[in-house]
Amino acid sequence: MRIDTKLIHGGVMGDKHTGALSVPIYQVSTYQQDEIGKHRGYEYSRTGNPTRSALETLIAELENGTRGFAFSSGMAAVSTVVSLFNQGDHLVVGDDIYGGTYRVLSKVFNRLGIQSSFVDSSHPEAVEDMIRPETKAVYIETPSNPLLKVTDLSKMAAICQSRGLLLIVDNTFLTPYWQNPIDSGADIVLHSATKYMGGHSDVVAGLVAVKGEELGEQIHFLQNSIGAVLGPQDSWLLIRGIKTLGLRMRQHEEGARHLANWLSTRKDIKKVYYPGLKDHPGHELARTQARGFGGMISFDVGSGKRAEEVLSRTQWFTLAESLGAVESLISVPSRMTHASIPEERRAELGITDGLIRISVGVEDPEDLVEDLEQALR
Ligand SMILES: *Cc1c(COP(=O)(O)O)cnc(C)c1O
Repeated sequence: MRIDTKLIHGGVMGDKHTGALSVPIYQVSTYQQDEIGKHRGYEYSRTGNPTRSALETLIAELENGTRGFAFSSGMAAVSTVVSLFNQGDHLVVGDDIYGGTYRVLSKVFNRLGIQSSFVDSSHPEAVEDMIRPETKAVYIETPSNPLLKVTDLSKMAAICQSRGLLLIVDNTFLTPYWQNPIDSGADIVLHSATKYMGGHSDVVAGLVAVKGEELGEQIHFLQNSIGAVLGPQDSWLLIRGIKTLGLRMRQHEEGARHLANWLSTRKDIKKVYYPGLKDHPGHELARTQARGFGGMISFDVGSGKRAEEVLSRTQWFTLAESLGAVESLISVPSRMTHASIPEERRAELGITDGLIRISVGVEDPEDLVEDLEQALR
């Protein structure tokens, strides 16, 4: 089954009792047992709920994984996955990751004895150099946020396999529509489903897909133990959002390509970051390991003051955190999504005050160009 068909017919289709085409919202916490210890697959909704379960089967299929899991947010998914590790364990983590992931690793899990070292994962040798005897996993995003650096998934998988480490990939930016990290050798794929998977700025959720029964059992144990599960209503909204993932991702990308090309012709823009541009350092790699380049662009307008002016003048780009929705969004990472990263660290990474990040929505690309044009003027 090809991906566009999988989005519609994957997972669990509707309700076999009534013929309803959409999966019912099982707004329920507990289930009648036939005898003590004998139930019909569901006992308690933290452990399992049929609506959530339909979504979990769907994400497992979309990511070509063995099992899928749905969480109450992307950060709940990240935190549950990191709970696989023990005190004394060490992780090698991409240095250009989502600010909240950086925060939970460097301010919460480090207190519990799980240490992380941050490194530019677009350089595989740099990742290898960071590995210690107590390292248990490599955790990356590709393309990264907000500089859209591309990391070689197959090389990461080879590094991890030869040392018995887990490879964990946050696939929020490309979604399973454009990229399947498990096919390149990843063990765990996670998503902030708040972004493209949901796609309509109306649900906060996280998704995980894993390779292998053993990891599946471990994550299910942690999901049930920690309890940060997604409710049935939000699970249903996500299933509905995912039906149009292909339509949306194609339109996001068409708009992004149009805007990135246009931005790179402008003399008043210092730099444009978009993996779909031929001069992007990760362009060739992105072409081989993914089917698309996505809808996120960053560009540097030179100063924090100018960035602020642009943000105050756009009409179709809404000033907001988040990304991946049908509406185009605009932000300044240094003062918004990445504000939790210390200033010196941001400077090292190249997240300047003049860096603007846009999440290209599904509006007409010409209107988006005109809007940015007038805002830049
Ligand atoms: C938003 C985001 C997260 C966190 O997800 P929430 O749903 O906001 O908790 C994690 N990773 C990436 C890449 C994100 O963009």
